[in-house]
Amino acid sequence: MITVDRISKSFDGGKTFAAKAVSFEVSQGEVLALLGSSGSGKSTVVKMINRLLEPTSGKVFVDGSDIQDLDPVALRRRIGYVFQAIGLFPHMTVEENVSIIPRLLGQKRTDYRDRVHGLLNLVELPPGDFAIRYPHQLSGGERQRVGFARALSGGAKVMLLDEPFGALDPVIRDSLQTEFKSIQQQFGLTAVLVTHDMAEALLLADRIAVMKEGAVVRIGTPRDLLREPGNDYVDRLLSTPRRHGELIRMLES
Ligand code: ADP
Ligand code: MG
Repeated sequence: MITVDRISKSFDGGKTFAAKAVSFEVSQGEVLALLGSSGSGKSTVVKMINRLLEPTSGKVFVDGSDIQDLDPVALRRRIGYVFQAIGLFPHMTVEENVSIIPRLLGQKRTDYRDRVHGLLNLVELPPGDFAIRYPHQLSGGERQRVGFARALSGGAKVMLLDEPFGALDPVIRDSLQTEFKSIQQQFGLTAVLVTHDMAEALLLADRIAVMKEGAVVRIGTPRDLLREPGNDYVDRLLSTPRRHGELIRMLES
């Protein structure tokens, strides 16, 4: 569904590289986590998948097409994009924010209303209560749910999620993670999930690509990584969730 083929990105004319020959594939219905510390190049890589950034070299294919051959605006309508800062329009209600894509496509409210309200129900924001609220009348978790609903509103089968849970408190993060997984499975979404949190990657991803200094240093299923970290960096990233798991088991016994 997504093929990333040796993409590199330099912002300074080739002196340094934010992404270095990054390659991976995401098959249909799969969740790939891009995991790495801040500055490792994760956002740079996802932005090259929806052409918010153009690679310095390398190619990206979505659903068989070289994205260089596609109109960037049309491409972005086919790919849902959720990011930490969400980017809701403050002067628009929840319903207006979620229906931006249908409205851009020239649909009338009678055409999209039921579907948009269905999406709001799906992300557990009952439209009777939430449709006419403005972003400033929502909590952080509720705003993030609106962002999800909006990303789904264009009927996208591919989703890019850039640290979507990063700013939320742990209880809300956990419930949104569970909801994301259930929506992802229900719709058969193909997703690239950016995170710096190994526990989140282990829980939500089918495969994890570990990035360090712009390069992918390890790629495999959560089980693969746990069995054989492959390098010290991955081993270190795994040590925190391992230690937490052990501590909890110890306290329970
Ligand atoms: P991550 O998402 O993993 O935190 P980023 O992809 O945002 O990392 O950034 C990777 C590197 O590229 C960082 O060193 C960052 O400063 C640099 N970078 C990102 N965007 C730009 C830009 N528009 N111009 C110059 N440098 C950038
Ligand atoms: Mg980032």
